[in-house]
Amino acid sequence: MLKARFVIWMCWVHIFVLCCPTPGQTSLTEFTIRDELELARKFDVMIETYFPVVEDVEISGYVRDLVDRLALTMPPQPFPLKVTVVRHGAMNAFASAAGHITVFTGLIANLHSEDELASVLAHELAHVSERHIAKAIEKSKIIGVGTMLGMLAGVLIGSQTRGETGEALALGSLAGSQALQLQYSRQNEAEADQYGVDFLVAAGFNPLGITAAFERIRKLQWIAGGGGVPSYLTTHPGMNERIGAMEERIARLPEEVRTRSTDNSRFLRAKAMSQAWHTDARSALAVFRAAKDMPACLAHLGEAIAYSRQQQTENARQSFALAMQCNGADPLWQREYGRFAFEFGRLEDAFSALHTAVLKRPRDLLALFFYARAGVEKGDVATGIDALNRVLKEVPRDAEVLEYLGRFQAAQGDHLNAHLNFAKAMAYRRQFARYAYHVRQAEGLALTEAQREAISAVQQEVAEYRQILGLPSE
Ligand SMILES: [Zn+2]
Repeated sequence: MLKARFVIWMCWVHIFVLCCPTPGQTSLTEFTIRDELELARKFDVMIETYFPVVEDVEISGYVRDLVDRLALTMPPQPFPLKVTVVRHGAMNAFASAAGHITVFTGLIANLHSEDELASVLAHELAHVSERHIAKAIEKSKIIGVGTMLGMLAGVLIGSQTRGETGEALALGSLAGSQALQLQYSRQNEAEADQYGVDFLVAAGFNPLGITAAFERIRKLQWIAGGGGVPSYLTTHPGMNERIGAMEERIARLPEEVRTRSTDNSRFLRAKAMSQAWHTDARSALAVFRAAKDMPACLAHLGEAIAYSRQQQTENARQSFALAMQCNGADPLWQREYGRFAFEFGRLEDAFSALHTAVLKRPRDLLALFFYARAGVEKGDVATGIDALNRVLKEVPRDAEVLEYLGRFQAAQGDHLNAHLNFAKAMAYRRQFARYAYHVRQAEGLALTEAQREAISAVQQEVAEYRQILGLPSE
């Protein structure tokens, strides 16, 4: 309980760190586009720090494609839209500043169709296009920014106390609900519902997805993910009226819009990966063994992953054999089989599957990461380093990738860069004593001006990171 209160209090401290302009820099009433971008960038760093970010092309790549498709129907926006998927069991998604949208894996795992997922995204995009958050921030900077961080705090507490008593969770939901009631008015929601349906229809989805999704979120909010974190919908008054109003609007749409059928194949893959990797392995196994509403071959793949996560190697091997038999040429199947083979010591099989997966889909960061590791195990360190650098271009603050890169560089005798990457990895794990140790080691090895500059660039990057998190500088 005390701990939970402390987390909230910490976040409210961050609000001031983030929001209050230096006197003379910005006027108190004007929330500029630049302010909004800066806030969004900092908010993203906080999300990345407190939630595991999911960079699976099958999940985040798919959600980004849906958002892109919806965005084509929106009026021009001052910011590029940005989507982050995070690993969390709650059925939730929210828009923050500057067109940034965060989607929880629990939402994808518990919805039933692409129309439903697109509906929730369209609703959030409508909050973005109507600039509801920016307007709230403009009205009152402190409440606006605090609202966003308070929401984060509410969810954070839920995720950090998973499996413990319900007390802290209840507090978390309270924080979330109070924050959200501040954030969106009924009028905001009515607008988002209305424009959300417009975007959906214009982008070619079946708008009935929206009422189905809202009903499902309302029903499942307390069981999803076991986290008990409330969805953004529950915190808003008048859900019945909102659903009723949307049903009426949709009923007036042309017959051919209401009877549109959407291809769910990519949705089902994203859902299966969210369930297989981002829910607990036991319930995942139960889902795939029941294999309801999903292609049999995808169920074999999900079952294989769930078995491997439970270290049931022989069962996993049998399920992978079935899965590869029915769809072995698909890069997702190859990646997952490659990961499994690598984890369980079948290096040649792993390398060949991952190599094919990477060739077919060069932007699959997970495939690249395991391909790099399998390559290094086989003795090709240079290719491994190259592959990890490609991964880090997309996820520059991923501590695990930084740590592997450091290891590979050390194996090649590049100790200075190895220490620098270890230093960054430790900083992003918020282990600052270890960070300082690796920086000192790097400093001891630096001979040239360029090397000293590389070290100070890392120090600057980490100092800024600490500042965003509200941690005192060294
Ligand atoms: Zn809303």
